[in-house]
Amino acid sequence: MSEETNIHCSFCGRSKNEAEMMIAGVDAHICDRCVEQAGGILHTELGEAPQSSPLDVAGKVEFDFTPAQIKAHLDEYIIGQEQAKRTMAVAVYNHYKRIGLVPVKDAPEVDKSNIVIVGNTGTGKTLMARTIAKLLNVPFTIVDATVLTEAGYVGEDVESILTRLLQAADYDLPKAQVGIVFIDEIDKIARKGDNPSITRDVSGEGVQQGLLKLLEGSKVNVPPKGGRKHPDQKYIEVDTTNILFVAGGAFVGIEKKIGSRLNSASLGYSKESRQHVEDDEVLSYITPSDLKSFGLIPELIGRMPIVTFMSPLDKKALRAILTLPKNALVRQYQHLFHMDDIALSFDEEVYDYIVEIALEYSLGARGLRSVCEAILTDHMFDAPGLDEKEIHITLEYAKSQIERSSLRKAI
Ligand code: ADP
Repeated sequence: MSEETNIHCSFCGRSKNEAEMMIAGVDAHICDRCVEQAGGILHTELGEAPQSSPLDVAGKVEFDFTPAQIKAHLDEYIIGQEQAKRTMAVAVYNHYKRIGLVPVKDAPEVDKSNIVIVGNTGTGKTLMARTIAKLLNVPFTIVDATVLTEAGYVGEDVESILTRLLQAADYDLPKAQVGIVFIDEIDKIARKGDNPSITRDVSGEGVQQGLLKLLEGSKVNVPPKGGRKHPDQKYIEVDTTNILFVAGGAFVGIEKKIGSRLNSASLGYSKESRQHVEDDEVLSYITPSDLKSFGLIPELIGRMPIVTFMSPLDKKALRAILTLPKNALVRQYQHLFHMDDIALSFDEEVYDYIVEIALEYSLGARGLRSVCEAILTDHMFDAPGLDEKEIHITLEYAKSQIERSSLRKAI
């Protein structure tokens, strides 16, 4: 008999193999289920334990930031996007204030502040959520809404989001319960009601309903190792009340919808008084109702009351992203070369050239990395064996590398 099966719970007799966890004492063992049961008995016998705040329970999560401090931290990593940074800072601050509240009799219940960030790909939506999670030192996970399907269909159940959060928290449940989830491409799970080729709305409304359950705060049974739910599986009950959900999406064409709403709102005014709204500026007028026409169900929109936007990145912003943030791309590459004891430097014009090529891709800041890779790959290949301890990238060299690269052929 193996040692595993030799150990039994001294209370219920379950073997170590059958239990999720076995705790050893002097001459005895106790399994996870018996611990849980004993806890329940204690709880009932001793009466309700005094309510502590979820942050106390989480123990390791400390929150000691003002919105201005959160914004200042975001400034170190994210270029531009002033409005979004302010909105996020306030939303996160309120969220944690709400969690930290010690329940007071008759105090109003503060609603949860889930957030939607609208903006083109590569404008920093994920970076924003990730940077905040790092600052707060809470578990953080990113899920792609497009892989989610209704239970029973090929794809991932909505609960898998919580499995990932649990994994990010190293299965520390209280910590996971105050974590941040970033749901990417939320605009892609729109109701597809008017698409005749889809007989069953597998990826649309059903998923939104599932998300709704998580977003509004409920206790959800989560398979700890992921995968589909099945009857014999052990579940972890995750309370989503204090999990902050941030959803991101490009919502392509939303400017037009906002624009037409603004225009119809200004009907009736004289032409002179009608304000002219620049294209770039239109996004700043976004309201939750603008999301409705993308097929998001009103209940879901209602659960994400804070909508903010990320502006498209122009030349100036891309140039800044390349060199200014704490983990700017150029710094990252310099660090990589530094590990081989090589000092990497660039001619100033090279930066402008990188931005110019990246703009042709319309991939936001993501394009910058591909361009840098194309320019530096040869040097990165040779670097480890190089005697030369300095590499300087000239405009001429950068251009020749780009012309030779597959990148150029792709444009
Ligand atoms: P999105 O989620 O909007 O598609 P990401 O946040 O994933 O875009 O951005 C991709 C990468 O581009 C980031 O890792 C970051 O390096 C860079 N980036 C994008 N926007 C910004 C920004 N505003 N400031 C600094 N870096 C940015």
